[in-house]
Amino acid sequence: MAQIRVENLRKSFDQFTAVQGSNFTIPDGAFFALLGPSGCGKTTTLRMIAGLELPTEGKILLDDEDVTFRRAAARDIAFVFQLFALYPHFNVAENIAFPLKCQGMSRREIGERVQETARMLRIEHLLSSKTSKLSGGDRQRVALGRAMVRRPKAFLMDEPLGALDAEFRHLMCGELRDLHDRIKATTVYVTHDQLEAMSMADQIAIMNKGRVEQIGAPQEVYDRPASMFVADFIGSPSMNFLRFEGGLRSGDRAIRLEDANVAVPEVREDRASGSLVLGVRPEHVRFSDGAQVRGKVFGAEYLGTTQIVTVDTAHGRVAARLPSAATVRIGEAVGLEFQSERLTLFDAGSGLAIR
Ligand code: ATP
Repeated sequence: MAQIRVENLRKSFDQFTAVQGSNFTIPDGAFFALLGPSGCGKTTTLRMIAGLELPTEGKILLDDEDVTFRRAAARDIAFVFQLFALYPHFNVAENIAFPLKCQGMSRREIGERVQETARMLRIEHLLSSKTSKLSGGDRQRVALGRAMVRRPKAFLMDEPLGALDAEFRHLMCGELRDLHDRIKATTVYVTHDQLEAMSMADQIAIMNKGRVEQIGAPQEVYDRPASMFVADFIGSPSMNFLRFEGGLRSGDRAIRLEDANVAVPEVREDRASGSLVLGVRPEHVRFSDGAQVRGKVFGAEYLGTTQIVTVDTAHGRVAARLPSAATVRIGEAVGLEFQSERLTLFDAGSGLAIR
């Protein structure tokens, strides 16, 4: 397996720059997700790593070896487009064997490799079955087997579960992660679905308009977002943004909102007066008499064990995740209190977190 490093990677199509100078290192054996909205440059980044697109600038290194100008077939990387694309007239063994046949490998060696791959995927009992008779999950395993059988240095996957319905996709996320834990193959996984990235990846790179805004473990990007874009993109419902005017001094541990002090994690830099944003996740808001912000209940959405209650305040609409047993009346005047150590401050102009 391999470490993948990307240095100052840029890609322009005529006047338009799709990838604006990315830098990241994917450790050997890691599951790395490229996450972001449609058009942010995920697929273009992946295609450059695969060798299907030539960078305008920058380098791609596989295990410290510069492969920027090496053609795709010589990179020893498997690109998995769509996990369900199998050859219907072949049985499972023939489907898995196909890439090795194309390489001209001997029959004996192909047989051994197919057996080994099937064992890893736990589909040995299906080897002589027609793929058209398989369940969705087994088809996915066969498609993965076809990518694995070449023993590539890394797997690149572009929205492989995109065509599936939500429930099945969730199931397959668990399968893919389980498989990754067993074979420990370096994997780069492109998705616009934050839940897929959060549930599977060791590290997530969040992209916006061709730039990587933050790279971190799922919990890190959720708890300590580097920007309002990241904070907004990750989490459902999204983080609340409460705008206010004020200045900050290094060492401050509170901000002033309405007539109340709101304790915040210690500020590390001075910030002259200006527009600031307090970021609060819905699960860190509660109703309280000793409130920091006052408002009126706008609506409530029942979700089973919890409910999302929206409250209109002078700083905008705030969503709170409350136990579903809490009694809430539309139009009721309520006070909100925030869990201080979980708050994030942002500069409203740049959108960047103030730490
Ligand atoms: P999606 O999930 O919609 O595929 P993405 O994040 O993968 O989005 P890319 O496919 O990398 O985004 O595309 C990034 C931008 O580059 C888009 O605006 C797209 O239109 C543009 N682009 C991609 N390929 C080309 C090309 N061959 N020629 C011109 N523009 C391109």
